[in-house]
Amino acid sequence: MTRTLLPFALFAVTAPWLACQARPPEAARPAVPETIVDLTHAFDAETIYWPTAGGFELEQLAHGVTERGFFYAANRFCTAEHGGTHLDAPIHFFEGRHAADEIPLRQLIGRGALVDVREACARDPDYRVRVEDIEAWEAVHGRLPEDAIVLLRTGWEERWGDRAAYLGTALTGPEAVGELHFPGLHPDAAGWLVRERGVKAVGLDTPSIDHGPSELFESHVTLFEANVPAFENVAGLAELPATGFVVAALPMKIRGGTGGPLRIVAWW
Ligand SMILES: [Zn+2]
Repeated sequence: MTRTLLPFALFAVTAPWLACQARPPEAARPAVPETIVDLTHAFDAETIYWPTAGGFELEQLAHGVTERGFFYAANRFCTAEHGGTHLDAPIHFFEGRHAADEIPLRQLIGRGALVDVREACARDPDYRVRVEDIEAWEAVHGRLPEDAIVLLRTGWEERWGDRAAYLGTALTGPEAVGELHFPGLHPDAAGWLVRERGVKAVGLDTPSIDHGPSELFESHVTLFEANVPAFENVAGLAELPATGFVVAALPMKIRGGTGGPLRIVAWW
């Protein structure tokens, strides 16, 4: 070995060792992230469902000390797919697209981006989030990451628990559908998020990804044609930063389901 090659030889030997040392040892890394936030409303008799969908029913089957001396509790529940914090699977509005059990796990877990549109929604309860709103977010926080899960904060979560304030009407049944008022995502923005940003999923804190007065549900159709699912009635958005977090939205795995109850969390 010549003198000139010696430093390179030394580097070749030590570089992998240095790389190993730079990473903290397995035991020093926390198994669970430092901060975990629940973005899910609890399911109970008051949980808000689509006006035509009924509500959440919990039937107590057992609750007490048994004859043999141990305590035992068990319930059964009945629920529509689309109520409370829930998944809309692409099959909900587009034939041949993913059902709840078919959505790849990788599409339900990813880097999150929180777009705050409360100001515009406070001015107009039927506001539809536009491309300009997301471009304004990008001007501050940088381009949306490829494969992002985009969460829209309309401020509607503060109305949760008050059906009339949250949905625009306290009516239920088919008559209620024409009275709905709440913000959503504009179909043009839905298309832009799919085409220009390749998002994995979109969620928001209102009952539907299309705004209340929608009759053709074009944002649903646009997202779902591209197999991009939606998360509705999302909670806890006040606790999130604008960027730098991970979202995991894991629905009940209903075979052939058009959606279903969702446990959605974020961490950073
Ligand atoms: Zn839904």
